[in-house]
Amino acid sequence: MTETLIPFAEAIERYEPVIGLETHVELGTRTKMFCGCVTTFGAEPNSQTCPVCLGLPGSLPVVNRTAIEYTIRIGLALNCTIAEWCRFARKNYFYPDMPKNFQISQYDEPLCTDGYLDVEVNGKTVRVGIERVHLEEDTGKSLHVGGATGRIHGAEYSLVDYNRAGIPLVEIVTRPVTGTGEDAPVAARLYVTELRDLLRSLGVSDVRMEEGSLRCDVNTSLAPPGAPWGTRTETKNVNSLRSVERAVEFEIERQAAVLDAGGRVIQETRHLHEDTGTTTSGRSKEEAQDYRYFPEPDLVPVAPPRDWVEQIRASLPEAPAKVRARLRAEWNVSALEMDAIVNAGALDLVVQTVAAGASPADARKWWLGELSRRAHDTGTELTALPITPAQVARIAELVAAGTLNDRLARDVFDAVLAGEGDPDAIVEARGLAVVSDEGALTAAVDEAIAANPEVAAKIRDGKIAAAGVLVGAVMKATRGKADAARVRELILERLT
Ligand SMILES: [Zn+2]
Repeated sequence: MTETLIPFAEAIERYEPVIGLETHVELGTRTKMFCGCVTTFGAEPNSQTCPVCLGLPGSLPVVNRTAIEYTIRIGLALNCTIAEWCRFARKNYFYPDMPKNFQISQYDEPLCTDGYLDVEVNGKTVRVGIERVHLEEDTGKSLHVGGATGRIHGAEYSLVDYNRAGIPLVEIVTRPVTGTGEDAPVAARLYVTELRDLLRSLGVSDVRMEEGSLRCDVNTSLAPPGAPWGTRTETKNVNSLRSVERAVEFEIERQAAVLDAGGRVIQETRHLHEDTGTTTSGRSKEEAQDYRYFPEPDLVPVAPPRDWVEQIRASLPEAPAKVRARLRAEWNVSALEMDAIVNAGALDLVVQTVAAGASPADARKWWLGELSRRAHDTGTELTALPITPAQVARIAELVAAGTLNDRLARDVFDAVLAGEGDPDAIVEARGLAVVSDEGALTAAVDEAIAANPEVAAKIRDGKIAAAGVLVGAVMKATRGKADAARVRELILERLT
């Protein structure tokens, strides 16, 4: 069924969006939440299981101290209050990938509450309230075999892999975010981006959205300006930054059409289709009471000592937003330029290239220009290009020293990316260095003047701009290896 949509700009003229995000993060602990099974991604199915995470009768859970510590780190970094005493709760529901028939989670006593994360959206700071950060265990994974889509519909049979069952999972729930208007989709994406960078800096998760270690449920509702908030829908398990933005955008366009037609938005979960950026109806949303939560009887309460919490607080790294502000000052770049670096996924690479000796301007120029283009052309991430920050710094150094010009530098980049070795070895092996021998340059310049008498005459008459033709001729004769600025100087010395 195709949904009726209202163009985004029109929808935003008539309705105010309210968004909310629930983000699940798999913690990078070595072992699972309540047992000693290891958590390596991609292992042989069901090879990382034991009686506890398989929910066998008589097995008892034990809390993973590192998972508690990581959750407190997250809570503190998000400016939350850390509970002095809290309990786990049993969330009862059946799902084939959940062997115990219940999930150990937290309900009315989360470990961290009432914080915030500031997000820069188009030059404005949006303070996103954090309602809670709680700890739970992940479920296993169902694999539907034989269908075209990998979904259960059309599948011949399904298999279950319990390796993921019991991996510590933190859920970070925002308060409703209001007042972002047409920026709502972007604000949602930037919040998840900022959160991802923060979590990465804390070292608590590898935050790989494509592997599912960070995934989002995106809530969206619409109401006419000034009216009470509308009914929200929840788009589940969105697993890329771009999709977070598209999910909000699509729901605004869809819900506006429903409201325009005098209809009612149904409270439900929805699935995002990554290929089209559209969502379709999932199931109507359960109420909390459907889960029959009760305090987990097999676990003692968690009461983190205050001095431990303060120790964790003292060990927090500088927040990414502060790092960016410091680097902006050090590198003397504008907010817009810094955004470009961050959006290209180049921040760490530029930092490392500067640390390896390049100037910030050179590091930015190569990573955002030439190398971004290569990454784009080959459909890879910048970080996946087979070139190191040290190699980029060395090429920049060779350009600064006049050994290479930009054109030759691009040839060296090509060769490094093709696996031909380090820049110096490539310059040597391919004879790529700039011709800086004055004798050779002067000879090439004289040849060019002799071959182009009419152009030379124009320059003698004061038409300096014509020098470009001669510079081009020299560059061609030297196969791009001359220093163009020096060639120009030599030409003008001779003709003016
Ligand atoms: Zn286990």
